[in-house]
Parts: sequence; C-alpha cells; structure tokens
Amino acid sequence: MLSIHSCPVGELGTKDTGGMSVYIRELARVLGKQGHSVDIFTRHHDPDHAKIMLLDENVRLIHVIAGDSEDLSKLSIYPHVQSYARVLDDFSKSQGNSYDVIHSHYWLSGLVGKFLQNWWNIPHMIMFHTLGIIKNNLGVGKPEPEFRICNEKALVKHCHRIIAATGKEKEALMDLYNASPDTIRVVPCGVNQDLFAPVEKRAARQRLNFSPHEKILLYVGRIEPLKGLDRVIQTVAQLKQTLPVKLVIVGGDHHDSEEMREVIELSKVLAVEDSLVFSGRVDQTELPYYYSAADALVVASLYESFGLVALEALSCGTPVVSTPVGGMKSLIEPAKNGLLFVEDTPNAMGKALVRVLNQTEFYETRTEAIRRSVSGYSWRNIASAIASEYEFLIHPKDGDQASSEVPVEKRMSCGF
Ligand code: UDP
Repeated sequence: MLSIHSCPVGELGTKDTGGMSVYIRELARVLGKQGHSVDIFTRHHDPDHAKIMLLDENVRLIHVIAGDSEDLSKLSIYPHVQSYARVLDDFSKSQGNSYDVIHSHYWLSGLVGKFLQNWWNIPHMIMFHTLGIIKNNLGVGKPEPEFRICNEKALVKHCHRIIAATGKEKEALMDLYNASPDTIRVVPCGVNQDLFAPVEKRAARQRLNFSPHEKILLYVGRIEPLKGLDRVIQTVAQLKQTLPVKLVIVGGDHHDSEEMREVIELSKVLAVEDSLVFSGRVDQTELPYYYSAADALVVASLYESFGLVALEALSCGTPVVSTPVGGMKSLIEPAKNGLLFVEDTPNAMGKALVRVLNQTEFYETRTEAIRRSVSGYSWRNIASAIASEYEFLIHPKDGDQASSEVPVEKRMSCGF
C-alpha cells in the first residue's frame, strides 16, 4: 500500500491526517489478520519513528526518504514521485520481496504506483479519497493545481482498478474523469465496531465533565473550509433563543491556525462563544465517549469522500444530522438514525437539528437500533470485499468480471 504524503499512524484530526489514514490502518490491520502480508510505504516525517515498524500481525509500516525531506507539505512530493518509486524498488529488491498488487491512496501515491506497476508488471489499484475537480467545482478554499487534475485523469486511465467509496464517487469518476465503469468498484468505508461502541450517556458526560442537562451537539473533524463548521456555528447562533445547545468541537491542530482563528472570530461576532467547547484533537480511543455523550453528531460538509465520523457516531448509537455528502445517503435512514439537511441554510439546518435533538426520550431504546443500522460496515466485511478485488486482479478468471459487478453496498445490506 502506498500512502506517501500522510502517515497512517500520524495525528488524526490534524491538517493532512484524517479518514484516509484510518482507512489504510484499519484495512491493513484486518487484511493482516486474514493472512495477507501488507507493507505500507509512507514518507519519513518523524525522527522518532523507526524506519520499519511492525503495525500489526503481517503488517509493516515503512518510512522512506526521497527528494527534499525538509518540506512536509503535500505538494512537495510531486517533483519526487519517481525518486520515491526508485527508493521503493530498491527496498523491495534489498528485502527479496515481490509484491502481488499495489494499492495506492490519493493521486500522489498513485503516481509513485504508476512507475512501480510498469517496472514490476503487477496490477495497480487506486483509491483517490478526494478528487481535485470536485474540490475546484465547489470553489471553497485554495484551488487545486491543474497538474493534479491532469495526473488524476492519467491515473484513471492507467490503473487496473479504482475503488470508489460511494456510488456518487463512481458517477463523478465517470462524468468528470471519463473513467470506464468496468474499472470502478464501489466499496464503502468501515468502522472498528469494537472501539466505536455505545457508552452509557451519563457516564460518558461525567468522564468528559459535560453537564447531564444540556443538549450537546458534536462536531468531529479537521478544521478546514470544506467541513462547513462555520455553517454549524451560524445554526447554533440561530437556535440560541429557541433551543440552546452546547456545540463540542473535536479536531484541529492548534488554536493559532488560520482556520481555527476564523472559527473563533465567527463565534465572537455571533456571540455564541459560551455555547462552544473546543476540545482540540482527541485520540480515537477517547472518541466513543464524545460520540456517546452527544445528543447528535452534526456534519455540515460541502464535500466528503465518505465521512467516517458519521459511521463512528452511528456505531456508538448516536444519531447523525448531515448534508447529503459522501456516504450519508446510504448511512442515514431519515428519522431512524438521523436526518439529512434538505437545504444548507441556517434556518433549514436549525429545523432538522431541533427535530433530532427533541427526540431524546427515544434514545435509550434507539441506541442499539442506531448501532445495528451500520452493523454491515465492519472492517472485516470491507477487507473481504477489497481482498476479492485483489484476487480478481491477480488471477483474473472467466466469470469473475460478472460476479465482481455486484455492488458491494448491496452485499453489505445482506450482511455479506
Ligand atoms: N479523528 C480523530 N481525532 C480527532 C478528529 C478526527 O481521531 O480529533 C478521526 C475520526 O475518528 C475519523 C477521522 O479522523 O476516523 C476523520 O475521517 P473523516 O472521513 O470523517 O474525514 P476526513 O479527515 O477524511 O476528511
């Protein structure tokens, strides 16, 4: 697996480390348990990390250096993709390894993988996680450079298989990147169901020092414009008189980042500072307490590739109110485990939040039902679906093409 720009054991919730790192770590962990050997390559970024780390049974994380290792920004990798490929090739030769399949994550890793697929003559699967054209079409934040788009288009042509997390991503790949539907498989993301399990609400609040009486709305994610946290704060301001809520904000590097400063500034302008709690970056092992303490998780993103935090909240039995981004349409069963915002104005968002937050009397009985609604999304199921795609790429057989056309989301609902 290639995860060149973002380390799977990096600090989640900070700038470039989020859902993709969780995806790689969890998928590799379960593939390892299922008996596959996985090497994950990432760029060297922390002198305290050993070059080769054993992450789990059969799973190694290998830190590599190529080109300019001082600049840790994502795009600094771009001029060095071929050097990374050479370093990986040398490593593989020195270890006497020969890999069966390359699975790259994000376009930069895809470019490294493109060299290796040619040199090693093995299949190459890619998952983009986010797509540059979609980001640019939204026009929020810094535009993605044209060379990203060109390279994504080239990868769509050259990779043997593309994994899309949702049907919507598959459509975008076909419509915006001219991808052939035959190369794309839809496999959703998963959740660690042992970790993300319900904790009794009062106990969770006590642990976190949250009041047992307040309505608590939770936001979990990196602090960046595409996540729409400003819209949540505007909605909280609008609700202040009718339904006062505490908005707990989890994630973000530090208080002096530009994005965080903007959030704090907005809360001052709207006079809702007292309604906000900034918890900063929280370790995943602590997150179940946050999800369980909350009355609802809110996702107001303009774009998500999938939206792991929603899956994690649901797995903890907490309803989710979200814009219809990423996997939300498949995850959220309106009025059963949450609601989708029909419009993204503070007024419409406020109405949806009031509906969900006022149903707390059903929570005790609903917690288990909400958790059950995502029981098909175990990493075991996801890893099996991905492994069968590897198998097909390594040993294509007649008839496999037809069977692999069965959408994984359908198989999910039958619990595999
Ligand atoms: N996360 C975390 N601590 C934080 C904030 C986020 O562990 O303080 C994790 C969260 O549990 C989730 C991931 O970061 O697994 C975010 O993934 P998501 O798909 O929601 O968003 P992305 O980062 O991919 O945009």
